[in-house]
Amino acid sequence: MSDQRLRRAQQVMAAEGIDALLVGPGADLRYLVGYHALPLERLTLLVLPADGEPVLVVPELELARAEDSGAADHVPLAAWTETQDPISLVTEALRAAGAQGGKLAVQDRLWTAFTLGLQAALPAAAWVPGSRVMRELRLRKTPEEIAALHAAGAAIDAVHAAVPELLHPGRTEQQVGRDLAERILDDHDEVNFVIVASGPNSASPHHETGPRRIEPGDAVVIDIGGTRQGYCSDMTRNYAVGHVPEGYAAVHAVLEQAQQAAVQAVAPGFSAEAVDAVARSIIAAAGHGPHFLHRTGHGIGIEEHEEPWIVDGNTVVLEPGMAFSVEPGIYLAGRYGARIEDIVVVTPDGVARCNHRPRELVVCP
Ligand code: ZN
Ligand code: ZN
Ligand code: ZN
Repeated sequence: MSDQRLRRAQQVMAAEGIDALLVGPGADLRYLVGYHALPLERLTLLVLPADGEPVLVVPELELARAEDSGAADHVPLAAWTETQDPISLVTEALRAAGAQGGKLAVQDRLWTAFTLGLQAALPAAAWVPGSRVMRELRLRKTPEEIAALHAAGAAIDAVHAAVPELLHPGRTEQQVGRDLAERILDDHDEVNFVIVASGPNSASPHHETGPRRIEPGDAVVIDIGGTRQGYCSDMTRNYAVGHVPEGYAAVHAVLEQAQQAAVQAVAPGFSAEAVDAVARSIIAAAGHGPHFLHRTGHGIGIEEHEEPWIVDGNTVVLEPGMAFSVEPGIYLAGRYGARIEDIVVVTPDGVARCNHRPRELVVCP
């Protein structure tokens, strides 16, 4: 699997005139060689020449972890000791491939300290962002990746199904959030985030779950996600406690319509910005244009937020295998907010949702 990915990366590099790709700890490294490297001040770096032998430079004390990850099945490991200069291992590997003075793609999220060190050691090289290579690989999911996203979606569906058991007046957002985190772990390996935004807090899209006590008549936005077998879930539903606050049902109805229309519009050949426009035009027509504060969605895969961005100005044309959230929201400051979020995958003839829970407002007793 990963060898295919390394080869595919080399093909993209050849097509783009890039001589080598440099990848430190993070999602790109996991994607390429399956290694969950710790983000340390000590350098871990995959050197992948377009033409030549790759090497994974690792601190000696991380060697056992790198070996346990199975990374050595895909790429030779080069360990550096505490007193060695790791950059010299990188420049050696690049020199061996004749790439030390070429065009180097460096991972978008490599720490600046490492990038500056590499640039000082390789003065003749030209530098481009690693995403020039990686987005080509990660943007379209394979059937196995799509199956993993569907499984993660089913797992988070099950957590939302349990919300009415947990959401009661008198409980705090944090209490509900802790219970949700525990439920997420029933069928995920990690909790990525838990947003329980109650009452006026629901008007803040990324509210931090806090000590507020939930009251009758609160709207509650619950946005939760985790990682299951390497792939992320991310799903939002809206709840009302006791009774529905005044005007909220109408706001929610607009959102249901906008989300449904945007999901239905998804198909190969449609653009990312056009999906955003479908949701936004319905919300704007209802007079809530200024209250839809964010883009309609984000790509998802081994990371919670990745390309493609479903936003005005992104002309990327949708292709089968692309996976992203469709999550329009309406936020009325000081009162309440709502957001409906599902993950969808572009199929050869349209779209498939990864989340299947009903989207209507749920009233909890
Ligand atoms: Zn977000
Ligand atoms: Zn979300
Ligand atoms: Zn999201």
